[in-house]
Amino acid sequence: MELQFEQTYADAVPPLSMPWRAAQAPTPELVVLNAPLARELGLDPAELRSEQGVALLVGQVPEDVPTVAQVYAGHQFGGYSPRLGDGRALLLGEVIDVHGRRRDLHLKGSGRTPFARGGDGKAVIGPMLREYLISEAMHALGIPTTRSLAVVRTGETVLREGPQPGAVLSRVAASHLRVGTFEYAAALRRGTGGAPTGEVDADDPLRLLADYAIDRHYPEIRESVGSGDNSYLELFRRVMRAQAALIVDWMGVGFIHGVMNTDNMTISGETIDYGPCAFMDAFDPATVFSSIDSGGRYAYGNQPAMAQWNLARFAEALLPLLAPDQEVAVELATEVLTEFGVLYNELALERLSAKIGLVEPDTALVGELLGLLQRDRVDFTNFFRALAADTAGELFTDRAAFDSWAERRAAKLPADPAAVRRGMDALNPAYIPRNHKVEEALLAATFGDLAPFERLLGAVQTPFEVRAGLEDLAEPDPDGGRGFRTFCGT
Ligand code: AMP
Ligand code: MG
Repeated sequence: MELQFEQTYADAVPPLSMPWRAAQAPTPELVVLNAPLARELGLDPAELRSEQGVALLVGQVPEDVPTVAQVYAGHQFGGYSPRLGDGRALLLGEVIDVHGRRRDLHLKGSGRTPFARGGDGKAVIGPMLREYLISEAMHALGIPTTRSLAVVRTGETVLREGPQPGAVLSRVAASHLRVGTFEYAAALRRGTGGAPTGEVDADDPLRLLADYAIDRHYPEIRESVGSGDNSYLELFRRVMRAQAALIVDWMGVGFIHGVMNTDNMTISGETIDYGPCAFMDAFDPATVFSSIDSGGRYAYGNQPAMAQWNLARFAEALLPLLAPDQEVAVELATEVLTEFGVLYNELALERLSAKIGLVEPDTALVGELLGLLQRDRVDFTNFFRALAADTAGELFTDRAAFDSWAERRAAKLPADPAAVRRGMDALNPAYIPRNHKVEEALLAATFGDLAPFERLLGAVQTPFEVRAGLEDLAEPDPDGGRGFRTFCGT
């Protein structure tokens, strides 16, 4: 197989990557391959299934192909960690896909790196299939996300709560630049003294990183503002907007990321790092699934505020580039940061209004609905499909309150009911990866039975189209998901 990997990031900002090789996998065996994604990358699925292809998917590449581990910092649950990085991951390289877009091909579970700290550098099959399933579901829902190319069993046994089959996930991303990457570069700049504020230092890792991020993700900035201080403020604004749109997408389908640390927030605006994430069943803004998030920092309803908090950390990292005078820089950044709240509220209201079939955003109807859903712990996914089908009343105990709301909504709907339903059904999924179904499928897969995984994957890959025989996949967790827990670092 001919490999045309590039390492433009490692070349552009040398101090943020380290040459590294994947660990040997004793007997690699393909578990699942995303053939359409392979083709999108210009790779031949048949070749990826060959011995040589599977070797590539666990990082066994020819000696002359450089592979790297990336370094970054991050605020984890509010506390700063100065050095995180790819502890068990490896960037095989960048490829230009058939649409001309540059994509990272990255491995997770490919062995310890210098950034592994206490970890073993490994990953196990259940959590890697979980990331594969949920990221592909997110993609099918139209939500920006890293993609999953394959999961390969390594043939190793890895110790977690008990012995588990080792596995490597290959994921594809617009890039792996994170807010935490900027935090690391900013600290590096401070440590080396950097150029006095206002002067340009050609080796400043922060400036190199920001320039690289603009060229890779927001090249239109070059056309609108050229280069110079304003382009970095514009970078901040674009990332702010991309994140506002992303969080609206998450909130619209009840997605809870679970670990919105700054090292898990991308500059591209893609969802990344599917560890403890999960979908909410019963509507409740306080919903948290992650076992370590005891304070509810990353609860469903906190996600917009946490995204803004992370963007503030991004702004702090960028400050030296924004203006020669620190006070001016803070002022500029604050203005953009304030726009986040306004933009988020506007987009979220638009989204929820559209989900209930309205053309004009309606604050009162949306606000009242969320109260009703919460009071009766109504299933957040099924409600919108039922509303379109005119059967939502059954989901409420306080029928009178719902009927009164429904009457006021009906008065504001466009004239053609069939068109309203079509529009709603194209926006509101029938199938999401429901926690109890995901767990069932992963348990079977861990013991070698992939049929439930493939059935669930097939459902969530076409989430808006109801199919006979998949009824059980649309059913909420019998206990409303109250007892469900997810885990980090799996
Ligand atoms: P996360 O919050 O799950 O994205 O991970 C935080 C950090 O922990 C990242 O730097 C990971 O590379 C690292 N990490 C997680 N699990 C392992 C592991 N088993 N071995 C080494 N590093 C790990
Ligand atoms: Mg991470």
